[in-house]
Amino acid sequence: MTCCRICRGKLNLIIDFGKISLVGNFLKQIKRIKRYNLSLNYCNDCKHVQIKEILKRDLLFKNYLWETGISKSNINLINELINKLKKNRVNKNSKILEIASNDGSFLKKIRGKFKCFVLGIDPAKNLKKINKNRDILTLNNYFDKKLSLKIKKKFELFDYIFARNVIAHVPDPNEIFKGAQNLLSEDGLFILEVPHLFNIFKNNQYDNIFHEHIGFHSLKSIIDLCALNNLRVLDIELIKSQGGSLRCYIGKKNIKKKSSKRINSILNMEQKIGLYNSKKLESFKNKILNHIQELKKLIEDIKIKKKRISIYGASGKGQALMQFCNINKKLVDNVFDKSKLKKGKFTPSTNIKIKDPKEINSKKIDYLLLLSWNIKEEILKQEKKFIKHGGKFIVPFPKPRILN
Ligand SMILES: [Zn+2]
Repeated sequence: MTCCRICRGKLNLIIDFGKISLVGNFLKQIKRIKRYNLSLNYCNDCKHVQIKEILKRDLLFKNYLWETGISKSNINLINELINKLKKNRVNKNSKILEIASNDGSFLKKIRGKFKCFVLGIDPAKNLKKINKNRDILTLNNYFDKKLSLKIKKKFELFDYIFARNVIAHVPDPNEIFKGAQNLLSEDGLFILEVPHLFNIFKNNQYDNIFHEHIGFHSLKSIIDLCALNNLRVLDIELIKSQGGSLRCYIGKKNIKKKSSKRINSILNMEQKIGLYNSKKLESFKNKILNHIQELKKLIEDIKIKKKRISIYGASGKGQALMQFCNINKKLVDNVFDKSKLKKGKFTPSTNIKIKDPKEINSKKIDYLLLLSWNIKEEILKQEKKFIKHGGKFIVPFPKPRILN
């Protein structure tokens, strides 16, 4: 039996999605691909929300088709964080480590700004070359306590350790916290960003649920992880990333710093909406099932009028939603996405060809279903021409609707 990834407690079911293909499994040719069970659960003891199905990690992360540098919104977030770091006294003597450094975009900016030592860790083989070309020292591996011991021998301690959008992806987040605790200098900061369960629950963002995302974190879950690993949450920010995320500033347990008052106000917010309540968590199931029905009906009503629909965004979220709602070739013509790594390939299980957004033409498309809704403003700006010529966008969340 699988147990809670934070406290080893017993898991209770919220919703079983059946079998789903991996959302990153884009293929050059249409063929039947493997599907894996997917279900959302919560821990009986600590209430942490998580999926039960843990796949071999190389299946998910060895060849990773998501590049930090592609989205403008993402680059803006990085710039905003770097400005914060300036105020936080990062300087040329600072030592910085990033866990899951992806294509090195963030570390490259940091080094450019502060001229300090940076080290990246990322398991993706396909991103190795990009990091080499950018001259970002990167260990091609998964981060855990064991690797942190090796890093400590060679590089000693770090003043700042970043883990942006990574703890939700690992089967045992305690390993990341243990490793960070081991490498953090006495007054060092462990800065972590994670999509906030509060928004996922409040805005019904169930497209976040797929095999790569194992845990859905509340602030309480981060505090629990800190307590288990001799760390302490010092401050919190709510940021826009990924439909609403937590940015946590974490220090060693005995660091001489007060904890911010914001922490309690966010915990109250979480409690009020029901994130620590079994019945409320179980009610997520009906919210999801109703949304699937509503979105399908909206699309089918458009198809009855003989209008043509394509999709914008081949992100993991989008691929999850397409499968949950069974959005296939009968309903949509193409998927558009900027990623060169995905262009020309087919979406997993739903088998729709991915094209360059440059090919978006309002004469051939009446509606674009926006599955990268988290960067909506960026895409609406980019597709001004499509809108000007009568094209319309459909936004799936919080409620499916056509934008006017
Ligand atoms: Zn638990």
